[in-house]
Amino acid sequence: MDTAVRKKVRVATTSLAGCFGCHMSLLDIDERLFDLLELIEFDRTPLTDIKVLGKCDVGIIEGGLCNAENVHVLREFRSQCNILIAIGACAINGGPAGTAQSPELPLILEEVYHSSVGLANGLIPNDPELPLPLARCARCMRW
Ligand code: SF4
Repeated sequence: MDTAVRKKVRVATTSLAGCFGCHMSLLDIDERLFDLLELIEFDRTPLTDIKVLGKCDVGIIEGGLCNAENVHVLREFRSQCNILIAIGACAINGGPAGTAQSPELPLILEEVYHSSVGLANGLIPNDPELPLPLARCARCMRW
């Protein structure tokens, strides 16, 4: 019988411009989570209450890079994770958030905030607290 104590793989996850559906898919493995937890331990993820990201063996990302905050979060995440895994269409190809960032974005914002019913005199959100959008939604695959 193998009595050696195997070190668990430390795993963190984060969500950039995503919908948390990829995280929900992880929860959807139901009781198999218990088998998984024999092999891994979670660091900071939306599934834990750990506030500070520690050194991890594996980092899993959902969501694309659409704004300056996403870039900041991904840089911190990259610095703490030995292996980075991008899952889901958003992290790999930009996903729905990526399709919203097109050359027509200014026209779309005009239409939504200036012409829509109930928002005819609205303002395009421009608060300094809002993260700056990137010109194009980038894929996490390049990190
Ligand atoms: S790929 Fe994107 S849209 Fe699909 S579940 Fe994941 S985060 Fe949500």
